[in-house]
Amino acid sequence: MGDTIKNLRVTLWGVQGSCPYFPTPHEVAEFVRMAAVHTLTKAFEDLAQRMREGKVSYETWLGGPPTKQTIEEYQRKLGLPNLPVFGGDTTCIEVEDADGNIVILDGGTGIRNCALNLVNKKWADRKDRTLYIFGSHEHLDHRNGLPFATFCFVRPNSYTIKIYGNGSFLASLDDRFGLFSRETKKVVSRDAPVNYAIMAAKFEGYEIRDIEEDGTIPPHGPWGVHDLGSPVKVGRMTITPFEVYHGTTPCLGYVVERKGKKFVFCTDHELRHGNDPKHPSQVESERAEARLRMHLQDAHAAYMDGQYFMAEYMGIRAIGHASAAPRIDWGHSCVEDVVARAQQCRVKRTYIGHHDPDREWGEQVKTDEELARLSRDKPYHVELAKGSTVIDI
Ligand SMILES: [Zn+2]
Ligand SMILES: [Zn+2]
Repeated sequence: MGDTIKNLRVTLWGVQGSCPYFPTPHEVAEFVRMAAVHTLTKAFEDLAQRMREGKVSYETWLGGPPTKQTIEEYQRKLGLPNLPVFGGDTTCIEVEDADGNIVILDGGTGIRNCALNLVNKKWADRKDRTLYIFGSHEHLDHRNGLPFATFCFVRPNSYTIKIYGNGSFLASLDDRFGLFSRETKKVVSRDAPVNYAIMAAKFEGYEIRDIEEDGTIPPHGPWGVHDLGSPVKVGRMTITPFEVYHGTTPCLGYVVERKGKKFVFCTDHELRHGNDPKHPSQVESERAEARLRMHLQDAHAAYMDGQYFMAEYMGIRAIGHASAAPRIDWGHSCVEDVVARAQQCRVKRTYIGHHDPDREWGEQVKTDEELARLSRDKPYHVELAKGSTVIDI
């Protein structure tokens, strides 16, 4: 990956599900232990080699007596293990194209670092600062980073932020911050002390909904309407919304395409495993699954919700130290289903995200190793999503 974007660059700023997550002291200790084992392994391999060559002395091994400097230099030579960080911030994914247009998918806590990078680096000297945010749904973990996004507050040459999403997503932002109505209602500032009057950015809302043929249905609030059936164009990118199944909460996925390459964003979708095939939720979930699979065909990259393993979803096994409970209609999918879906739809690179906050790091490491083993020599690669991953397609 070079610095020049050839077509689309996808950055995973936040992949954690439900609430932000940071490692426990136990997990940090485990991380340190694995780093120590790595270092000792490398050092003993080096020592064995040197013994074979008859070159065992401080002078030849460390390049001098064991001082802080010689040991630090030796450690650098041995390198560090590749210990992945999976969670952290909640959902936020940035897609930048070769023309410099930027689309942000969801405004979870990951948007804070995304915004810092944009304001201080990428768009520090840029004149046209029009940014597009596409929201999946109203839940807190998909919008709670917005009041901490520095692009909301930049002056002069402030940002224009066009926000697309379903009516309930736009309403949740307008209720809390007055972004579109520019009114201070009772609930404004309930989540954070800031609101539209403090923010410098100009916000425009576009409600994505199924417009009847006559197109006369008014929007649900102080914003425009965009038809669910037609893609949004941002430069030479097209962003196609589609409905997923997230229990009783309306939720959207998006396909971002440019020059024949596509990235599919599908957070908070449940492939429901109910006993009754005629249950309305089962029917709805299967319809959404069919739509998702249609969009996934031959995708170059995809981010998908895989919060549970099947045994956890069925309530047979607990997640980490939490108690076992059936997860039907909680609105999330199983890792096993994502793997099958990715292979059947021939998705080149799949990133499984929306990690459960009770999932332990050691288990994620093992799962990722297992996914790497399954993907070896296969044309369709599946891995757990890690914060800060950059994908060029
Ligand atoms: Zn979520
Ligand atoms: Zn949700």
